[in-house]
Amino acid sequence: MIEPSSGARPTASAQEPAQLLDELDTDDWKRAGSTAGSRASRTARRVHGSAPANTLVLDHLAACDGEVADFIAAARQAPVSSNTSGDSGRASVYRRARVQAEELGLDWKRYLEAMEWRHATSTALLMGDKDVIRPERCPACRTFGLVWVEDSNAAMCVNRYCAVRGQPRMWTLTQLAAEHVADRQYRVAN
Ligand SMILES: [Zn+2]
Repeated sequence: MIEPSSGARPTASAQEPAQLLDELDTDDWKRAGSTAGSRASRTARRVHGSAPANTLVLDHLAACDGEVADFIAAARQAPVSSNTSGDSGRASVYRRARVQAEELGLDWKRYLEAMEWRHATSTALLMGDKDVIRPERCPACRTFGLVWVEDSNAAMCVNRYCAVRGQPRMWTLTQLAAEHVADRQYRVAN
């Protein structure tokens, strides 16, 4: 489990999505009440007549696994490299997606990179690691200082000069993922 944050700004970016998802895909996280606060009771559901499960976690795992599987299915037009054979598990699925994206070109690579960032970040957030958002810049004002607002399911920019008519700008993970990938490409190109 992720320990409560000390409040320091982390410099590391999100971890590997497969690693985080595997961590989430355990009995401790899948049981009801494992994720933050008030949501827990609303998400409890009995599965197979056993202990109540956290549907937020189950749905998240299914959504991420499904999305990367869909990506691989869509990429099948490209030849599948042999160097991913013999792998098993979630990490190998992401590896296979990367190999296929590599062969299909830049658009696919960007799409997958954004997806992987989104999977890793949303998984970390679900496990209570709100600091995972802090190394990202606000797409509008380019400053650090995004704060995750769970109820809005979005990140808020705390820079008051960035606010629009007194309302702070809010960013979804999909918007931040696109920005994250663009930012990386810019740094690589320069
Ligand atoms: Zn801003």
